[in-house]
Amino acid sequence: MGALPRRTCGVWMLLLSLAATGTRCIPTNEVNLLDSRSVMGDLGWIAYPKNGWEEIGEVDENYAPIHTYQVCKVMEHNQNNWLQTNWILNEGAQRVFVELKFTLRDCNSLPGGLGTCKETFNVYYFESNDEEGRNIRESQYTKIDTIAADESFTELDLGDRVMKLNTEVRDVGPLTKKGFYLAFQDLGACIALVSVRVFYKKCPFVVKNLAHFPDTITGSDSSQLLEVPGSCVNNSVADDLPRMHCSAEGEWLVPIGRCVCQAGYEEVNGSCQVCKPGFYRSSLQTQSCSKCPPHSYTKVEGSTSCQCEENYYKRDTDPTNMACTKPPSAPRNAISNVNETSVFLEWSVPEETGGRKDLRYNILCRKITADLRQYEPCGSNVRYVPQQTGLRNNSVRVVDLLAHTNYTFEVEAVNGVTELTNPGRQYVSLNVTTNQAAPSPITVVKKGKAGKNSITVSWLEPDRPNGIILEYEIKYFEKDQETSYTIIKSKETAVVADGLKPSSIYIFQIRARTSAGYGSFSRRFEFETSSYLVAASSEQGQVPVIAVAVTVAIILLALATGFLLSGRRCGYSKAKQDPDEEKMHFHNGHIKFPGVRTYIDPHTYEDPNQAVHEFAKEIDVSSITIERVIGAGEFGEVCCGPLRLPGKREYPVAIKTLKAGYTDKQRRDFLGEASIMGQFDHPNIIHLEGVVTKSKPVMIITEYMENGSLDTFLKKNDGQFTVIQLVGMLRGIASGMRYLSDMGYVHRDLAARNILVNSNLVCKVSDFGLSRVLEDDPEAAYTTRGGKIPIRWTAPEAIAFRKFTSASDVWSYGIVMWEVMSYGERPYWEMSNQDVIKAVEENYRLPGPMDCPAALYHLMMDCWQKDRNCRPKFEEIVSLLDKLIRNPSSLKTLINSSNRVSNLLVEHGSAESTVYRSVGEWLEAIKMGRYTELFMESGYTSVEVVAQMTLEDLRRVGVSLAGHQKKILNSIQEMRVQMINPTVPI
Ligand code: AMP
Repeated sequence: MGALPRRTCGVWMLLLSLAATGTRCIPTNEVNLLDSRSVMGDLGWIAYPKNGWEEIGEVDENYAPIHTYQVCKVMEHNQNNWLQTNWILNEGAQRVFVELKFTLRDCNSLPGGLGTCKETFNVYYFESNDEEGRNIRESQYTKIDTIAADESFTELDLGDRVMKLNTEVRDVGPLTKKGFYLAFQDLGACIALVSVRVFYKKCPFVVKNLAHFPDTITGSDSSQLLEVPGSCVNNSVADDLPRMHCSAEGEWLVPIGRCVCQAGYEEVNGSCQVCKPGFYRSSLQTQSCSKCPPHSYTKVEGSTSCQCEENYYKRDTDPTNMACTKPPSAPRNAISNVNETSVFLEWSVPEETGGRKDLRYNILCRKITADLRQYEPCGSNVRYVPQQTGLRNNSVRVVDLLAHTNYTFEVEAVNGVTELTNPGRQYVSLNVTTNQAAPSPITVVKKGKAGKNSITVSWLEPDRPNGIILEYEIKYFEKDQETSYTIIKSKETAVVADGLKPSSIYIFQIRARTSAGYGSFSRRFEFETSSYLVAASSEQGQVPVIAVAVTVAIILLALATGFLLSGRRCGYSKAKQDPDEEKMHFHNGHIKFPGVRTYIDPHTYEDPNQAVHEFAKEIDVSSITIERVIGAGEFGEVCCGPLRLPGKREYPVAIKTLKAGYTDKQRRDFLGEASIMGQFDHPNIIHLEGVVTKSKPVMIITEYMENGSLDTFLKKNDGQFTVIQLVGMLRGIASGMRYLSDMGYVHRDLAARNILVNSNLVCKVSDFGLSRVLEDDPEAAYTTRGGKIPIRWTAPEAIAFRKFTSASDVWSYGIVMWEVMSYGERPYWEMSNQDVIKAVEENYRLPGPMDCPAALYHLMMDCWQKDRNCRPKFEEIVSLLDKLIRNPSSLKTLINSSNRVSNLLVEHGSAESTVYRSVGEWLEAIKMGRYTELFMESGYTSVEVVAQMTLEDLRRVGVSLAGHQKKILNSIQEMRVQMINPTVPI
């Protein structure tokens, strides 16, 4: 048996080459260490024995030479033909692949020789660090595998010219040396080894997540994953160290971490590109370069932030994408509302907020020094609600100010960039003069000597008297018998409460009064009388007291009976004490005593000159300079000019003159006004500076009110004020009137034309004619009874039978409210006086002015109650207005338009028929009349205030039964609905 004839081999080799060739595309993750087909010259492989493997030169379809090795000793026994490759450097690969392409002859198709014919061959390798040449023994080789053909071919195939090429790949490893040899052992097959390719696999260079991963040779093990660290591309930094895993198949797997472009750069197609001028990227968290925010710029590339334009600023804490901003301008339209010793400041937001949302306000408070020369800081005693600095709202309440003191408040607007700039403080300032204030509550009350029927009680002055204390009021009652109490008035700081039961606990409460009124009662102090066992001697002194008490009790009983029989009880019928009486007893708070007349009628003086000089200071005419005429009075011109009193600052005053040629009576009447005015001292009553009687013309000097009379002032400023400002004015007038009525003075001509307004919008009551026949009032008309009366402002009982009282002043006050809320409209328009009298008599009333809060219109209507006892007292009006000012949302409900049908009068009661007129009436109607007293005492004196009550308020008032609470709350709820929509029947 010999080799197949060469011709035959030549034929199948030709076919073979045709089938084996074609464009070879090596995957990018494979690196060839050897490719027999790409070796141009001699392969140089060693075959032994020499007649075994044979190299045959062939060409591929492109006529490029290829090397093939063939052996076909199928007919001969004991074949052992070796073919050894050159030394192959493994280039560091630990695992290589051997791809063999070969053809194999099917032994069955061979003629004879079947006994020796093989259809496999073996592949070996041998590792070495150097070339070993021919010195490798067979036994040194390590077998890789025995290779069998998937497809062998036959003679028939040759005939068909179809050659079946086998491709087998084996991997070798782990390799530990620099290189190796491959060897192919033939044991008697008919093989043509067409190509041998040796390669290893690598994970090719890649950029992933902005990191470079280098070419990486796979591991030695077929299941090994090599962790490979990446390195960040230019201008990027590692966020979380990037890594990937190189698989044995040369694939990158499981990327972890990433790099991100550094600030000033953005990621574009896997690289970091610089931000262009006008753009910036500040943080690694943002994706890409952003345009500079408004009012900022950058002129260079790669910016990490933008610079603010001139006069624009940014805080370090501002987000980088926020626009550059400015400090705010000053707040606008600041107004103040003084309530005794507190002031409510309100303002509008600045015109320029600077483009920021952190606008805040700070309040700076200064008060005039004692010598009236300069201002000093207000100090820490003043409180600001909610706070002094960093205010978010446009208002603040400043409390605990000194009474009767000039203050300056600066409301400063600031925002987050104010401190970065130096534009000067942006503020609006307000000058405020506090009013008189009631004294603060008494805090220290002590028990002195206690007998079985008496206790001596003493106390300390209140911490803040806010003026001269005129007297104290001591209220006491037996514990748990609150409805029956006694009141003692005293100018001292101690009293003896007598007529008490032995061994009984009594509750004491004390309050002080100044010209500004009463302060709040102290807390309750409990003191006990001693028992019957106390020595009889101490009883002796009590006898006359008991007698007095019994007498008083009888009088009280008579008065109480009279009162109870006198008819209907109204919501506003609150007891008022008579200071003439040292001691008064109250049952259910309904007994009322006439007040003391602190006001002295100048008529009671025989010589009117004496009265003038008692109450008014004579001013030297040289202290006065008349500068200009500001009005015309009944007795002569009214002028203004500076008054310079010795040792005092010069200040402007109004000067009323008595024209030449006056009669004695005219002089008396003229100066009479000064005699009255001089008795008053209240911030809402026009202040008399003095009189000039020793030279001519005779003059009355009063404080100067820059804005003149209220009616003209309102007409001039139609619609210009906020509701709070208007209510502030009304509150001032009511406070002045409360003072007058406390003094026992009935004004009789209260009207907007007789109210003067100063530059701080403070309203003061003026025009105190002596005769009060109102000769000087052009509005006054003669009535059928001969008196001259300003019909439109006057209560019906005063018109009908000249019953002028503080209650008729309250009626006029209601008309003033109407004038104020309608900006100086004439009450009852062009109706004749007669028609007005008739309409009012028939129970018609003025309709609510346009945009008038319902609470104010209800108060007006209450002032116009036909029964004067049912009208509120000025005290109650002041406290209601204070509540409204403190709670501005209560002014938001406007009267229903049906209540202000142009200039049609409204029937009293009908317009409010669905709304209760007083708290008493309402409580009676829902059968809860028993609580009237508690409501009154807790300040719930009007339905408007009641309508705001909550369950908590009810509990505080003393309504503790759950059923009653529910009933009252339900009714309050209905009342609210009613106030918003008066057409819904209750
Ligand atoms: P009388 O005589 O008080 O009604 O004053 C006449 C007018 O003079 C008033 O209507 C005011 O316009 C003006 N007037 C009176 N008193 C003052 C004052 N104290 N301050 C400013 N204007 C006044």
